[in-house]
Amino acid sequence: MHEISIAGAIIDSVLECAKKNDAKKVEEVFIEIGELTALNPGQLKFIFETITKGTVAEGAKYDIKIVKPQINCRKCSYSGNIEFFEKLHFFLPIIKCPECSDADIDIIAGRECCVKKIKIS
Ligand SMILES: [Zn+2]
Repeated sequence: MHEISIAGAIIDSVLECAKKNDAKKVEEVFIEIGELTALNPGQLKFIFETITKGTVAEGAKYDIKIVKPQINCRKCSYSGNIEFFEKLHFFLPIIKCPECSDADIDIIAGRECCVKKIKIS
């Protein structure tokens, strides 16, 4: 359940941004979440709704985009998407290159967890 601490950090930054911009209300929050974070968007939304009660972000909509993981292989220089054949049960799964099965790879996408923008009024 690392969703709770991550959701808290996301809402903190949303509220800080809303305050800086003198927002009366946060209408919508656009978030990007990498698939490798194994975060559950439904659960995140539920936590957002709960912890924003009584703040300017109460009742905001959440647009959560899931980012597919991408890697660069250091061995065969494959670059692109990887696929998972089973659901992620671990926070940091072992990722291998789909071309040469080597684990010497760089993850270039799929670990993000950030607020892209917010819509305020
Ligand atoms: Zn490779």
